[in-house]
Amino acid sequence: MVHTSYIEISKSAYKNNLKFIRSQVGSHVTISSVVKGNAYGHGIENAVKIAESAGIRHFSTFSTDEAIRVKTTTTKNSEIMIMGMVDNDSISYLIENEISFYVFDIDRLQAAIAASNSLGRKAKIHVEVETGFHRTGFEWDEKSKVAEMLINNRENLQLAGLCTHYAGAESIANYVRIKNQIKTYLEFKQWFQDKGLHFDKYHTACSAASLSYPETIMDMVRIGIAQYGFWPSQETYMLKFKQLAPNMKNPLKRLISWKSQVMSIKKVKIGEFVGYGNSYMASRNMTIALVPIGYCHGFSRNLSNLGKVLIHGKILPVVGTVTMNAISVDVTDLKEVQKRDEVVIIGRQKRNEITVASFGESTQQVNYELLTRLPHDIPRKIIS
Ligand SMILES: *Cc1c(COP(=O)(O)O)cnc(C)c1O
Repeated sequence: MVHTSYIEISKSAYKNNLKFIRSQVGSHVTISSVVKGNAYGHGIENAVKIAESAGIRHFSTFSTDEAIRVKTTTTKNSEIMIMGMVDNDSISYLIENEISFYVFDIDRLQAAIAASNSLGRKAKIHVEVETGFHRTGFEWDEKSKVAEMLINNRENLQLAGLCTHYAGAESIANYVRIKNQIKTYLEFKQWFQDKGLHFDKYHTACSAASLSYPETIMDMVRIGIAQYGFWPSQETYMLKFKQLAPNMKNPLKRLISWKSQVMSIKKVKIGEFVGYGNSYMASRNMTIALVPIGYCHGFSRNLSNLGKVLIHGKILPVVGTVTMNAISVDVTDLKEVQKRDEVVIIGRQKRNEITVASFGESTQQVNYELLTRLPHDIPRKIIS
């Protein structure tokens, strides 16, 4: 082992999750695999490989750099859609590579038309409309101008999609707001149709919307967190749980496990302090294992005296402060702990498990944040 820890990514867990998502959205719907944020920390290249082997042929990214990574990884010529940042200068590249992208302002629409004109090829665009998220999307009173531009430049534009995004479908607190967004979206759709403008795909749903608001599913769903085995929120799970067969286990499985090993072992006498300063004093004669992961590897300093890891299948406490490169773990109760023994930071070992959620709760991070902040340079390997 050259690195201090590594991340395993389970292909079979992905297949399992996709099967569940498919059962929820129906067989005719395109599932776009959202791989922004380095595929929620899994690594874009790994995620594309696993997803394609499970049958996915559509990927969504936030930005052009991510789209290029998908493009260089795909072996199935999958479709790629950019939902966020596209600099006008990149549009020609996108057209040449048949990468579709969101358009949510007149400037980008004009740039797409201009680039298409000079290349003599159509730009594949998704028109995003503002329905209540108030981040990006054409406003209701811009629709005539947009429609006119779409109609006048028909030969430059492939109308790949009409889309919007919901403002928190994972929480029931937003119920009224989401319902209003659905209504507004359908008004836009109807209005464009009345103008003779039809889009290849109508798509609005992320994981939470797909699971909690079936009417948002339409032609395509953009699934991020659920494919990686996490519920968008506890609420989404509870809501779904009631509809699942009794005794059915959690249908989503985590892909990711994070592992390291014992670097060294030390005996500490009662009354001595462990690590920097005096945050932890040995309350008995102790055995301490040093594990080479610290806050520079994404193991938060907030987990000082709070974090837990698994060794020999037992849940064991981190003692003392988390340092840049290492943590100390109390292994006094283990028999024969040895240098190089496996340490699980996230994942299962024998009968016990440390979930991303429990790891995240103690650091006040949501799954999304914790996953995407796992440092890119921890090696990821795909396991079956
Ligand atoms: C991130 C994102 C998604 C996926 O969200 P999940 O909650 O991870 O399923 C879908 N659509 C857009 C526009 C997004 O930005």
